[in-house]
Amino acid sequence: MSLISWGMYPKIKNQKFSLRDVTSLNSYMSNTYEFIPFGNGRSYGDSAINENIVHVKPYNNFLDFNEKNGILTCQAGVLLSEILDSVVKRGWFLKVTPGTKLITVGGAIASDVHGKNHHIEGCFSECVKEFTIMLPDGETTTCKKGDELFKATCGGMGLTGVILTAKISLKKINSQFIKQTTIKTKNLKETFEAFENNKELPYSVAWIDCLAKDENIGKCLLMVGDFADDGDLEYKSKKKLSIPFNFPSFALNTLSVKAFNWLYYAKAPNGISKQKVGIDSFFYPLDAIGNWNRIYGKNGFTQYQFILPKENSYEGLQEILTKISNSGKGSFLAVLKLYGKENDNYLSFPIEGYSLALDFKIEEGLFELLDTLDEIVLKYGGRIYLTKDVRVSKETFEHGYPRIEKFREFRRENNMSEKLQSLQSKRVQI
Ligand SMILES: Cc1cc2nc3c(=O)[nH]c(=O)nc-3n(C[C@H](O)[C@H](O)[C@H](O)COP(=O)(O)OP(=O)(O)OC[C@H]3O[C@@H](n4cnc5c(N)ncnc54)[C@H](O)[C@@H]3O)c2cc1C
Repeated sequence: MSLISWGMYPKIKNQKFSLRDVTSLNSYMSNTYEFIPFGNGRSYGDSAINENIVHVKPYNNFLDFNEKNGILTCQAGVLLSEILDSVVKRGWFLKVTPGTKLITVGGAIASDVHGKNHHIEGCFSECVKEFTIMLPDGETTTCKKGDELFKATCGGMGLTGVILTAKISLKKINSQFIKQTTIKTKNLKETFEAFENNKELPYSVAWIDCLAKDENIGKCLLMVGDFADDGDLEYKSKKKLSIPFNFPSFALNTLSVKAFNWLYYAKAPNGISKQKVGIDSFFYPLDAIGNWNRIYGKNGFTQYQFILPKENSYEGLQEILTKISNSGKGSFLAVLKLYGKENDNYLSFPIEGYSLALDFKIEEGLFELLDTLDEIVLKYGGRIYLTKDVRVSKETFEHGYPRIEKFREFRRENNMSEKLQSLQSKRVQI
């Protein structure tokens, strides 16, 4: 069966090579014209998709864990969920984690993912001490912070080689709970104020009602928090429900999104509320429903995630949210986050500012709407996140990523451009 990404679009036939040992990977590489690494397919678009795929997930042994200093070494196919299952009870947590724990360590490095604490801890690469990678010529090398290969690979979307193992540092915790505060706001101005007033806290994320209109544009529920300190480390992964089949595509329309958004916002108490919640509820609420991507129907969906520099964030978001609200194309998920300083990696997504991520069902007229949003993003000096993308043009991509020429040159000099390609890298000509 062909592998697909989380957005279930596009679907193309592919041949999978399951990585289990480096010798056979070496011979696969020398005999295969062109391929792309694939972790657990939690990227939304076509960055892990090609006709030939190296499936890294089966390469998933733990190699070493130092319980005293929290340094973990593992193969790149290990899932973040598997790490949590073994380290939380010992008082450790991931320094940086995205909104799903069902991704591989290799995928976390290749997308240089970020979490709800980017303004404090930066991207995943901050906690990577070193990794080993097989380059397209079959050579395996160890790469450390500061190396050019490190800057190209973290955020490099699998286009420099196959990451094999990684040594990462974890964060000490003393509870499986997070002290969460929820703040309900009425518009974008209040939302920004709430983010800024709480930026000393390590974690923050807002759910925005993207169908709200006029003076309510940008109203949100902002969740902020930090780990509790109660010594309770009895963490057990939550059992999950699953969506058994693709919903018919008419099931999700503007009305159902409006109703969901209304209920979600209305059920939260006004003003500020506090509660203690578990790791899974706070960091990974969507993982509670297996295959939730099927609610978008068999044609699939995409996530549009952009970031704007801080000085332009308010104006740009106001304009983009107005456009979306007028289009009537709703999104259940519209997530706003605050970001800290940009790192040195050539293609890492975050810059200092605010980012919004929105899910849209693939349907007629959608890509035209997203093209208009791209223009606004560029006008305000922003960029699009490659790991979510499936349709951005070469021109829009290049505008957003001024270090792309360095990355291209690095690939050319190291003979990476021919062997390592995804549908996305061909589209934007990385
Ligand atoms: C519900 C949900 C929430 C999410 N929340 C966030 C979030 O908060 N922040 C965020 O940053 N991202 C988020 N993501 C995106 C996700 O974290 C990234 O797309 C991540 O890279 C997926 O990892 P994966 O192992 O599934 O890799 P895949 O999706 O299979 O691949 C992603 C990229 O990594 C490359 N790659 C994978 N393994 C290797 C390897 N071993 N060597 C070299 N290259 C490799 C692929 O070629 C591809 O370019 C979310 C995704 C979902 C579904």
